[in-house]
Amino acid sequence: MKKQIEKIYSRPARPGMVGDGFRVFNYFPNGQITQQRVSPFLLMDFNAEYDFGPSDHLRGVDVHPHKGFETVTIAYKGSVAHHDSTGNSGVINPGDVQWMTAGARILHKEYHEKEFSKKGGPFEMIQLWVNLPAKNKLADPQYQAITAGQMGKVILADNSGSVNVIAGSFNEHKGPATTFTPVNMFDIRLNNGGNLVTTVPVTHNTVLLVVEGEVTVNGGQAGQHDLVLFKNEGEEISVSADKDSVLLLLSGEPINEPIAQYGPFVMNTQRELQEAFQEFQSGKFGVLE
Ligand code: MN
Repeated sequence: MKKQIEKIYSRPARPGMVGDGFRVFNYFPNGQITQQRVSPFLLMDFNAEYDFGPSDHLRGVDVHPHKGFETVTIAYKGSVAHHDSTGNSGVINPGDVQWMTAGARILHKEYHEKEFSKKGGPFEMIQLWVNLPAKNKLADPQYQAITAGQMGKVILADNSGSVNVIAGSFNEHKGPATTFTPVNMFDIRLNNGGNLVTTVPVTHNTVLLVVEGEVTVNGGQAGQHDLVLFKNEGEEISVSADKDSVLLLLSGEPINEPIAQYGPFVMNTQRELQEAFQEFQSGKFGVLE
């Protein structure tokens, strides 16, 4: 049975700035799409293609904490560099994904890669926050640097396009990311006229973002930058591209636990949040210059 569409949302009217390097449209959470509705996904920030121009300083966001969840950064155009308090650092280039587990605590900074920042040029990326269940909220911080070449790559029939499987399983093809709860994350590239059919579990909360292009999905029309929210009924998703298109399909088993959030801390209770904040204030998150 086809997954029914609950609603197709247009791109939010105005972007917000994260530091001076990320000009993002925040698709959720908001009054319409709550964190429980799309659990385990907590946040979707989409830096739709934008040219910041050449810069003589590194655009980005300086040292900040995270606790109790994971951040997933998907680079489409331009390059993002990062450093964190566990000593990890790296560059996320187009096609790469960084899957960072903040877990118990992390400090990091995220900014445009040096050469890219100097030159400027089209920049397009997505950051997702993926919740951790209570039993994993204090997991050791770590990150998975997944390069474009490591993705599960599926070439679709009839020159329809291709799918980079970041996490989970697309038509039996597995992605490289390790996740704490069941998550599918597919970076889909369809040629104009191309199509694909896949299934995700009926229990999964599921959304499809049109990063570029225009598609028909399960009978609905989704234009550039639209977000399709599916009902938790049916399993099949059928997409045909009305233009060359880039799509991000997310689905995940809901974590049915209370969510308590204060900025970059996401715990289960207010008390845990207060503790997290105190830990941060007293320097227990470590040091990052
Ligand atoms: Mn961050």
